[in-house]
Amino acid sequence: MLSNMNKKNVAVVGAGLVGSLWAVYLAKRGYTVSVFDRRSDIRNVKVVQGKSINLALSDRGWKGLEGAGIRKEIEEVALPMSGRLMHAVNGELTYQPYGKEGQAIYSVSRGILNQTLVRCAAEFENVSLNFEHKCVDVELDTNTIVFEDKNGERVRQQFDQIFGTDGAFSAVRARMTKLDRNEYSQSYLDHGYKELEIPANADGTHQMRKDCLHIWPRGEFMMIALPNIDGSFTCTLFFPFEGEVSFDKLKTDQDVLDFFEKYFPDAKAMMPELLLDYNTNPTASLVMTKCNPWNYKNQVALMGDSAHAIVPFYGQGMNSGFEDCSELDRLMTEMGEDHPDLLKEYGKTRKPNGDAILELALRNYIEMRDLTADKDFLLQKKIEGRFATKYPEKWIPLYSQVTFSHIPYHEALSSGIRQNEIMKEVMNRPDIEAVWDSEEIENEILKRI
Ligand SMILES: Cc1cc2nc3c(=O)[nH]c(=O)nc-3n(C[C@H](O)[C@H](O)[C@H](O)COP(=O)(O)OP(=O)(O)OC[C@H]3O[C@@H](n4cnc5c(N)ncnc54)[C@H](O)[C@@H]3O)c2cc1C
Repeated sequence: MLSNMNKKNVAVVGAGLVGSLWAVYLAKRGYTVSVFDRRSDIRNVKVVQGKSINLALSDRGWKGLEGAGIRKEIEEVALPMSGRLMHAVNGELTYQPYGKEGQAIYSVSRGILNQTLVRCAAEFENVSLNFEHKCVDVELDTNTIVFEDKNGERVRQQFDQIFGTDGAFSAVRARMTKLDRNEYSQSYLDHGYKELEIPANADGTHQMRKDCLHIWPRGEFMMIALPNIDGSFTCTLFFPFEGEVSFDKLKTDQDVLDFFEKYFPDAKAMMPELLLDYNTNPTASLVMTKCNPWNYKNQVALMGDSAHAIVPFYGQGMNSGFEDCSELDRLMTEMGEDHPDLLKEYGKTRKPNGDAILELALRNYIEMRDLTADKDFLLQKKIEGRFATKYPEKWIPLYSQVTFSHIPYHEALSSGIRQNEIMKEVMNRPDIEAVWDSEEIENEILKRI
């Protein structure tokens, strides 16, 4: 594989999803790449498909993978989900396609994806992988990283450039926030999450449709389920920590069983290990972070969750991190790898997109847990879908802009706000249910665009 000693000697701190992908991009450009992670080598961890957390991968993520040449490998373990299937309390099912015919988001195991990316990086002779190396400080002026190895010994190493891909609680970012005029904010949602499982049938088939993302919208909370290739589903309950109906109130096994019987009876019937899962799996929190700038001179850049940790309701955290990779790679080509303002330009252009996808993800939580059970909302989506099919150059539904396009997130957010204003006016018509698919409605929308 490529090796070029005249190229920069760079560090990638964090061998998670984004770091391992970015290492491949850098390796392909011939850099000498040292990857560090505080964890042990993920390639040695046995990923149990059904038990692993899965993620929705969409167009921005695929583009990132393509740039590293590993789309095909991931396609083999990815399950397409062409729409949402909403489960009402009475068991009634409502299907809503995500996009046009043939468009889908893909359920992929986080463990398999991370292992594949690390294996891919390891194939390059100009990449060294250093596990059990925890970054504890960065001496910014000399571009030196201080690591603590597995024996607790401190090691210092200097690099030409450092990429911080060490996730939501990034040590690289933490060092940058000590600088003058460096902005940082962190907040938590009042809701946390817990993972549960719907196992496969005895013959290995799925107990529910495997071509959908399943949602149980319940107003203040919701559960979702994504299919795994072994026939199981990974379910995630997003639920308030405290309050009338909350994690806090489910104190006994009976409380848990009663809660699931009341709100998710169809799912409960498919969860023989519900209590075991509920009691064993952690109740995790959902953090959001913003920072500015994303770079320090042309020496350090933050990518992925270290720059923009968002809530998971648009399924875009990883996808946006992969887009950071393809976008920085594009800038390297356009500006030149050695351009003195490369990392500044990267931070400047990506930051508004990081902010926008956080806002979009927060809005989508309301949509998923509340509106997907709302008759008017579903009608609105039908009207939009019909109009978008007829006038694709005039209207791309917001979900499609975010999920099935490469339109910058901040542009998608502004256009989504405008579309919503138009649709509100249209939905205000008292006769909308009768005339929703008429030419008159089409003309009303056309008039307002
Ligand atoms: C419940 C949930 C569901 C989600 N669903 C989706 C989804 O459907 N689609 C989607 O696109 N995104 C989803 N996300 C978001 C996605 O998981 C993240 O955006 C993604 O993992 C970010 O990748 P990353 O590489 O930036 O960070 P991480 O994956 O967190 O990796 C960071 C790496 O850095 C290492 N590290 C941390 N600190 C140090 C240190 N001091 N020194 C050295 N190494 C360090 C860690 O060990 C880790 O390997 C979801 C998130 C959650 C919580």
